[in-house]
Amino acid sequence: MLEPLAKGDATIRILLIEDDQDLARRLADALGEAGFAVDCAADGETGCLMGETNDFDAVVLDLGLPRLPGIEVLKRWRRAGRDVPVLILTARDAWTDRVEGLNAGADDYLGKPFQSAEVVARLRALTRRSAGRASPLLRRGDIVLDPAASAITQNGELIELTARELRVLTYLMHRAGRIVSQAELVDHVYALDETRESNTIEVYIGRLRKKLGKDVIRTVRGLGYRMT
Ligand code: CA
Repeated sequence: MLEPLAKGDATIRILLIEDDQDLARRLADALGEAGFAVDCAADGETGCLMGETNDFDAVVLDLGLPRLPGIEVLKRWRRAGRDVPVLILTARDAWTDRVEGLNAGADDYLGKPFQSAEVVARLRALTRRSAGRASPLLRRGDIVLDPAASAITQNGELIELTARELRVLTYLMHRAGRIVSQAELVDHVYALDETRESNTIEVYIGRLRKKLGKDVIRTVRGLGYRMT
């Protein structure tokens, strides 16, 4: 199985809700390039449903959307207790939109036009904050992950991982000490439009053990995996 080496913070799964197709494509490309797994919705209703039925790490939400306005999408999620970090996209200088968005529970905003690189940087900051970490480095034992550089070191030595191996490991590191089921890993490792095969998770776990040591990831029989 050949895969490109990880280029970015590949563990993070983003939902992009934007009806401007050119902008959506440009942004999805930039986010993919940065290593995020991106799913797109082109209207509010579809986006709302995707956010309700999937576990995303962050959402980029345009406010001006067909079928259901972005602000309504946000309000519905918050009313339902969904606390996924949301970055809203607003028209330039529309300060009332920003205030309304933040009041409705948005975590950050960007006025159009914006640079894709800024969206990437803000999403990294948002997902970091939501995981309750001030430091961008994730540590577990002798393993250190720098999400911004997609670099894994063990005892100071650089370990080469493929994009999917990195997604699996990063997710387990985020949930260290807790049991993560195979289904949960599949959700976070694959974008919605990718073919999902739960048995490949075992393959990635096997490779990670080979690279990092067999005790780094424990199997909890019948339940999933846990990073010790
Ligand atoms: Ca729009």
